[in-house]
Amino acid sequence: MALVTLKTMLDKVYQKRYAAGAFNVINLNFLEAIILAARHTASPVVLNIAEVHFPFVTMEYIVPAVREIIKRGRFDVVLNLDHGKTIDAIERALANGFTSIMFDGLHLDFDENIHQTCEVARMCHFWNISIEAELGAIGGAEGGGLVGAADSAKYTDVGQAKTFVEQTGIDALAVVIGNSHGRYKCQPDLDFERLRAIRDAAGIPLVLHGGSGISADDFRKAISLGIAKINFLTGMSEAAMQAAASYMSTAGERYNDYSLMLNQVKDRVAEVVAEQIEIFGSRGQAAF
Ligand SMILES: [Zn+2]
Repeated sequence: MALVTLKTMLDKVYQKRYAAGAFNVINLNFLEAIILAARHTASPVVLNIAEVHFPFVTMEYIVPAVREIIKRGRFDVVLNLDHGKTIDAIERALANGFTSIMFDGLHLDFDENIHQTCEVARMCHFWNISIEAELGAIGGAEGGGLVGAADSAKYTDVGQAKTFVEQTGIDALAVVIGNSHGRYKCQPDLDFERLRAIRDAAGIPLVLHGGSGISADDFRKAISLGIAKINFLTGMSEAAMQAAASYMSTAGERYNDYSLMLNQVKDRVAEVVAEQIEIFGSRGQAAF
């Protein structure tokens, strides 16, 4: 059991044909919920800390907690900067011992995305940590919008995926095949033929962002076609809000209502994470 790089985890995950869940840590409550679920299911997990969540979570405070958990747990953990957009955030994550960086070049054109991803890849590999990058444009607003919408014009291009992976040397590629951040308006229609072609062209583990709202069958099919890491947050946030609302609807006037509500939130979020771990097939895979 250890803090491992994304490449170390995904090499094993990819061979065994399941997916590692990547769950966002927005505070200590969510961190404890994810760890409860990982312990309960004996599953490896990726802990995502997103740059867009820096107003809510201070990485310098949360990383010591992650290290303490790792000492006590029996499962491997990846500490990943999710959607790192600025060099400041990336350098801060490196200085704090993250084992993976997801570089988000979403706003860049293809050539500039290659150029900047190369730079970040060089930096990450110098420190012996992994890099994930994204090609195409994932629908929905990362870190904000609740209603995602996929735009087929922005799906990952198969030819570009091959060039991008060859030229940047990244360890994992986030794809856009009909997936969106936030809550889907209707059941997403994933482009599995495109996913198969990207897998064959890229030859590295693939990542699916926008995991909340995709059916269990679609997840299993995506995993069989090369998806090895699945990002999941919206479902956790919604469960947390429902648990908080449910507690408040029955709360008395106890001095410790807030603490009790937080525990109810933690337990409910842990259940949701455990359900996803089950679907992703990583239950019992803690001991590689
Ligand atoms: Zn994402």
